[in-house]
Amino acid sequence: MLHKLPKVTHSVRTNKFLQPSLNSIISFFITFIFCILIVAVIIMNNKNIETLTIDKITAEKINSIQETISRLVYNLYMISAIIDHNKGNIDNFERVAASITIEKHIKNVIIAPGGVVDKVYPLYGNGAIMGLNLFAEEEYKSGAEAAKEKGRMVLGGPFVSAQGNEILVGYLPVYDDVDENQNRFWGLVCITLKYHAILEEFNLESLALYGLTYELWKINPKDGKRQIIASNGQAETDGVSFIERNMHLFNAEWHLRISTDKKWYEYHENLLMILVSVLVSFLIAFITQKSYELRIVSKELERLAHTDTLTGTYNRHYFTEFVSTQIERIKRTKEKGFIVLFDLDFFKKVNDTYGHTAGDEVLKVTASRIKLQIRPYDVFARYGGEEFILFIQQIDKEGVCNLVERCRKCLESTPVEYEGHSIIVTASFGIAEVISDEGMNIAVTQADVALYRAKKEGRNRYILHETRTVADLM
Ligand code: GH3
Ligand code: MG
Ligand code: MG
Repeated sequence: MLHKLPKVTHSVRTNKFLQPSLNSIISFFITFIFCILIVAVIIMNNKNIETLTIDKITAEKINSIQETISRLVYNLYMISAIIDHNKGNIDNFERVAASITIEKHIKNVIIAPGGVVDKVYPLYGNGAIMGLNLFAEEEYKSGAEAAKEKGRMVLGGPFVSAQGNEILVGYLPVYDDVDENQNRFWGLVCITLKYHAILEEFNLESLALYGLTYELWKINPKDGKRQIIASNGQAETDGVSFIERNMHLFNAEWHLRISTDKKWYEYHENLLMILVSVLVSFLIAFITQKSYELRIVSKELERLAHTDTLTGTYNRHYFTEFVSTQIERIKRTKEKGFIVLFDLDFFKKVNDTYGHTAGDEVLKVTASRIKLQIRPYDVFARYGGEEFILFIQQIDKEGVCNLVERCRKCLESTPVEYEGHSIIVTASFGIAEVISDEGMNIAVTQADVALYRAKKEGRNRYILHETRTVADLM
């Protein structure tokens, strides 16, 4: 018996095990969707944290840019106040300007009455702008005019000065009082800032170390186009975390955009999480598949443990177990039940005459014919050798006799065809009523006694135990 099991398991494996079960496919997708949702939540959460961090950095940078440029440019108010105080007399300009230009980011300070540069400090290296009319010079013109027109401080640039330096220029218009109600434009005081040196102070380049890209830009008043003031690459907005903030620098509006330099799928940890999701999904699908296969194997083993391999009927062990539980049931319901034991007549002769294989065929055909005669809830098993057993329920004595007679006739009436031989098969039947309180064994013994009597009395007949009703069929 044991050596047959692996063979059966193997046949099941080749038929059903190669394809993944629907359950394993479903569990793969459910797990995958679940994992991907978790990954999406983690990625979105990381993106939010990233955006908050960028927002904080952007705000800090903007504050320091605004603060530094304003601090430098506000020096002009002091000069303006001196001019105002001295009614245009600016003899002590050098002394004042020297105290201002100590600041390393200031390139020079200019006094331009009527817009024409009259004084510049330091003169060394800045002499080229002496005498320039700021309202007529291409680069200075727009700032100078805006300051005069608006009557307040204006920031211009960055642009390349005549000396080839990139500069920012602060323009402050100065007025002298004509009378109490009227101010007359006196001229401009300007301050030139070393644009690159200032930017360095803001340490924007270091953002690259944290995987951040920045763009500082403004709309150029001359052509209305976007002018990049400083950047370390293109700060994108698609698929990356980014923040863009505006800052007001007097008349100018500058924009600082800071973004991550990678899209979400370019982060190794995100790709790793997706990979892990796929692996976990495969693992769950694999486990589901294995448990499905195990269920099939255990069902098959269970079936084999219940079945007689030659005839496909239940075996004696299962019959005994199952019928015992059924008898417990009929004990409560008071239904009737019968044990029918039957044995093929002169079967030894079949084996001796036609061979053992023919005998096997007769056993198979007998089982299949009997199966057709009984009802689905009747229990049929091979009891051993060429002996079979039936448990017939929900029936009375007359009914069971009719059923057994049908079985007997169906065997007798049609010979078994085997390799050109017609083998006539008959059987003798013993019937005993199950008395639920007495249990199954007593009924089986009584059926056996009845069977023995049926054999003795001429075979091919049934006998009901104790009733002594004999069907004479000869
Ligand atoms: P009786 O009418 O008195 O029952 O006569 P019988 O020849 O059938 O006698 P008995 O029941 O003693 O013989 C049973 C025979 O069944 C003996 C054995 O060789 C044969 N047999 C038992 N199991 C198998 C089987 O699985 N296959 C085959 N071919 N023969 C079997
Ligand atoms: Mg026999
Ligand atoms: Mg026998």
